[in-house]
Amino acid sequence: MWKVNEIFYSLQGEGYNTGTASVFIRLSGCNLHCDFCDTCHEPGTMMSLPDIVEQVMQYPDAPLIVLTGGEPSLWIDEAFVMGLKQMTGKRIAIETNGTHPLPNGIDWVTLSPKTGLGGNGDVPVVLDCCDELKVVYLGQDLAQYDNITASYRYLQPCWTDDPEKRKHNLLMTVQAVMDNPQWRLSLQTHRILGIK
Ligand code: SF4
Repeated sequence: MWKVNEIFYSLQGEGYNTGTASVFIRLSGCNLHCDFCDTCHEPGTMMSLPDIVEQVMQYPDAPLIVLTGGEPSLWIDEAFVMGLKQMTGKRIAIETNGTHPLPNGIDWVTLSPKTGLGGNGDVPVVLDCCDELKVVYLGQDLAQYDNITASYRYLQPCWTDDPEKRKHNLLMTVQAVMDNPQWRLSLQTHRILGIK
């Protein structure tokens, strides 16, 4: 059984897969408490894999499942990933803070480390390899990510409800990308579009 916060169909809003129709499985709970966390991930319902698959297959044409949270790696194992993949026929992506090892079988790993960003983000990151590295940028030293192997590196401005602060964060991130062009800009396009 897995504690599921919500399952919903939308577009991936961030990073390399931006704009891809995806079924999101949000698993409950996280081992970090970031000050800027914007997700109410704690409430959840215990669900079996067949129950999860049944909900996912309400969207048969969606090519991608995104495991998110919270921190989904706290819950999943290889049997879950392979079962989900075989029963749905969909590719599996994960969004993780990287503090917990991942099982085999995941098709796309988005590593979003929170080290040095407040909360208890100093829990060590154990992943050193991913498909995309997606960093919430708050002015931190980017050299700390040099040892992480990634096909793509994204900086993303920290979202805030304060429009002035939001603009400041965006411009600061744009400048950081221009100064460090091995990184690209990632925007939370779902927020801009007003979709989930
Ligand atoms: S790692 Fe992500 S889900 Fe966990 S507290 Fe931080 S922002 Fe929230």
